[in-house]
Amino acid sequence: MIYLNEKLVPEHKALVSVFDHGFLYGDGIYETLRAYNGVVFKLDEHIERLFRSACMIALEIPKTHEMLKQAVYETLKANSHNEAVIRITISRGAGPIGLDPALCPKPTLVIMSHEFKKYPGPYYRKGVKISVVSTRRNFRDALNPQIKSLNFLNNILAKIEAKDRASYEAIMLNYRGYVAEGTISNIFFVKDNVLCTPCINIGILDGITRRIIINAAEEMGIKVREGYFRKHEIYRVEEVFISNTTMEVMPVAEVDDIRTGMPGMITKALHKAYKKKVAEYTKEHKQDRLL
Ligand code: PLP
Repeated sequence: MIYLNEKLVPEHKALVSVFDHGFLYGDGIYETLRAYNGVVFKLDEHIERLFRSACMIALEIPKTHEMLKQAVYETLKANSHNEAVIRITISRGAGPIGLDPALCPKPTLVIMSHEFKKYPGPYYRKGVKISVVSTRRNFRDALNPQIKSLNFLNNILAKIEAKDRASYEAIMLNYRGYVAEGTISNIFFVKDNVLCTPCINIGILDGITRRIIINAAEEMGIKVREGYFRKHEIYRVEEVFISNTTMEVMPVAEVDDIRTGMPGMITKALHKAYKKKVAEYTKEHKQDRLL
């Protein structure tokens, strides 16, 4: 079942107009969330980010924070999902051809839930390969990567390059050549026992997983550096990993054909800490399942 605008409908009835500006211009925003044991992890944070994205594109979400929370749980329950990946999409809505947002009186809201499919075990046991690609991350003052936008061509162009190099993820540099982020992930590396990650000012998405990992590291007494790093600085380091809501902490074994090796101690400890936070959250928020 798909939540479309006001109600749940079967997938074959979940149809959106060809005049929707999300389809015509990539004009819209989205969030990807993860449910563990029927509880949607960090739901408030994801909805808050959705509202921030909406604000940055001058889109008025036709629902309140609480209404969206409820709609997410309705969708999850209608599909009887416990372990799920949920996507909330809000597009500008249908309107005549033309860029003016005022042409679209009513945004389109879609919430989908899919059973979470586990990533292949070797990805975590051995680590994945990533490549630094030539496609640069969108310039922050042109299309701010903090907007979780439906306009994904920047990331898709980078993904095409990664696939050509048989890499799992593409890492983009920003317009000035600083390491930014992956197509769907944030990047971390460990150098001299310090956990390093590009700062938000580089022009990246303020990942919810990224923030949790930084907090966990600080709680564990690991020094964290959010900064400006050049491409060569992520080669031959002690550990590298990427993060997002569904992959959590994914170890990296190879960056541009340079081997980092097996998942390191800090990567493993942070993934364990992340899982502990998920377990605590799920326990604390079990009443959310009644929403
Ligand atoms: N960076 C980009 C470009 C993304 O698309 C995503 C997630 O989709 C992330 C980072 C990670 O964000 P989060 O940890 O909130 O899932």
